[in-house]
Amino acid sequence: MSTLHPSITDSRAVLQQNLERIQEQISCAAMRAHQSIPHILAVTKTQPVALVELAYSLGLRDFGENYVSEALEKISALQLSVPNHQAAWHFIGPIQSNKTRLIAMHFDWAHGVDRLKIAQRLSEQRGADLGCLQVCIQINISGEANKSGCAPQEALALAFEVSLLPHLQLRGLMCVPAALDADASFEARRAPFDAMRGLFEQIRAALPQAHAAAFDTLSMGMSGDFEAAIGAGSTMVRIGSALFGARA
Ligand SMILES: *Cc1c(COP(=O)(O)O)cnc(C)c1O
Repeated sequence: MSTLHPSITDSRAVLQQNLERIQEQISCAAMRAHQSIPHILAVTKTQPVALVELAYSLGLRDFGENYVSEALEKISALQLSVPNHQAAWHFIGPIQSNKTRLIAMHFDWAHGVDRLKIAQRLSEQRGADLGCLQVCIQINISGEANKSGCAPQEALALAFEVSLLPHLQLRGLMCVPAALDADASFEARRAPFDAMRGLFEQIRAALPQAHAAAFDTLSMGMSGDFEAAIGAGSTMVRIGSALFGARA
């Protein structure tokens, strides 16, 4: 590490502390709720590639981005600095039709699939040599107007249709619940995640067995609410600011 600029060594120490603290909080939340320990998806949007490299060196392997062009720069930069890396890139933002080709070509996962047309485009545009794109269906679990995500009552039908697309692998559900006041109770925070868990179980039970086996992901919980999400059985928490600090 001696060749690194001091500020990078400082960042490494800070990131390591943050990661250890979050891992501890995650383990405690999982133990308290008798749930399995979820996977950490490190949300690197707006953060420089140097931080992605540090996170990778600390063992993080899944990275989440919301903006396609920003992500593509980091995807190529990591490829250059760590050839043959084992990282997976997750697109977690809303998916516009004109971005599906780049997402299908450059990402490993897409969490924001919320309508069939987008899913069909992603499947058609996924390079045949790449293997399936892993997808989650985003649910508008708080029923907010103008929010991405499919309505809960439409999720089962969409899941069936997505599961049939040849170049996608349906992995589960994702949500971003409505923001709550800082003094909201733990129960109020838990409610949308419990609803997600119920929907997830319902869909998994209805899918044909071959698809049900791969339907294993509940992508929910962010820096401010991951403990509530873990209580409801999140399998993948998407953590940005608690790891990397506030975004500019
Ligand atoms: C930004 C973002 C996150 C991470 O948010 P933090 O509060 O910084 O942890 C997670 N999921 C999605 C969809 C995001 O856009």
